[in-house]
Amino acid sequence: MIQTLRAPDLSDDAVLRFVGGVRPCRRGGLRIEAERLGSDAGGKAVVHNYGHGGCGVSIAFGTAEEAVRLVDGSLQAGEPVAVLGAGVVGLATAVRLLESGRRVRVIAERVGTETVSAVAGAVWLPTGIEFGDTPQRRAWFHGILRRSIESLRELGAPYGIETLPVYEPEGAPEYPEFFDNGSLGPPRALEVLPIGAAGGPGRVFDTLFMHTPVLLRRLIERVRSLGGRFESRRIERISDLAGVGEPGIVNCLAFGSRDLFDDHAMYPARGMLVLMKPQDLGYIKHDGYRYMFPRRDALVLGGCFIEGDERSEPDEEMCRRILADHRSFWGRGEDGTHGACRAPL
Ligand SMILES: Cc1cc2nc3c(=O)[nH]c(=O)nc-3n(C[C@H](O)[C@H](O)[C@H](O)COP(=O)(O)OP(=O)(O)OC[C@H]3O[C@@H](n4cnc5c(N)ncnc54)[C@H](O)[C@@H]3O)c2cc1C
Repeated sequence: MIQTLRAPDLSDDAVLRFVGGVRPCRRGGLRIEAERLGSDAGGKAVVHNYGHGGCGVSIAFGTAEEAVRLVDGSLQAGEPVAVLGAGVVGLATAVRLLESGRRVRVIAERVGTETVSAVAGAVWLPTGIEFGDTPQRRAWFHGILRRSIESLRELGAPYGIETLPVYEPEGAPEYPEFFDNGSLGPPRALEVLPIGAAGGPGRVFDTLFMHTPVLLRRLIERVRSLGGRFESRRIERISDLAGVGEPGIVNCLAFGSRDLFDDHAMYPARGMLVLMKPQDLGYIKHDGYRYMFPRRDALVLGGCFIEGDERSEPDEEMCRRILADHRSFWGRGEDGTHGACRAPL
């Protein structure tokens, strides 16, 4: 017998709002390296930690550990650090630095739930990022993936992290490299997908899901409880860093690194999401960037990945198309309330 899982309510009444954000992508992948800045920036020791593309929530903890290792190689034990940026990468880095015994001040224009990180769904998958073009670089990235997922598993439910099954219809893009690094078990083939109107074959695998509003709030609390401080400020130019009191800086400015550190390998990838009223479905539907996540505060419908577009505001027409696409998967009509849906509401 085929078990059909609960279908979402995709009616107009269930639409909460449209949101958008820009993924901080980088040609060549992550930049995690130490640099000594010039005298115009006070000769500070900087560790860069940016370029997380479409998977920063997934990999923030692995890259934070790499950054801490580089800080330890650049500074004396106990010397304090300023972390630039308070998205998931800056917060995870601040937590790991504080846990290693350093004093930390986080400087950012926006903090936690006001950042791009709060727009993310977020499913644990290494999407929208280059793994690297040498075996060494790929092995290094695979290590980051494994350490990241371990850290998130350890944080678990109190940080808004749970394991969910991900259902993909046949024909969805396949990425073997997501599974051949030892962080996730491989997908299992299904003769009949238990979701959607088509009733065709598909596959399923388990991964972590991060309820980003919960995760970001808990990370801010953790920084504070370990004695970290926050300063709300925009850094306009590299010379502003000369005035930062700490001898060491970790740069987690994401897309902000393009202009501040003149890194033209950075490029934007615009994303948009339709947020529906929360629905506790207990599974994820995934088909490339056409995905559905049951986040606690909203059912999240994605999406798109528009390379080279750095507008963060959502486009109404595009969001309506995202909604229509999901309705079609579930066999719904134009207003989402009727049509031949195989799975019951
Ligand atoms: C629609 C969408 C869906 C996504 N889905 C997922 C997903 O399912 N799973 C996943 O893992 N990832 C997902 N991502 C990607 C993820 O959101 C990013 O990779 C991640 O947020 C990057 O984190 P970050 O901390 O580097 O950047 P941000 O969250 O952008 O934080 C950057 C920080 O730097 C600060 N800053 C920047 N410039 C300056 C400046 N000049 N002065 C002072 N402060 C500055 C900002 O204020 C902010 O505090 C998604 C992204 C989008 C847009």
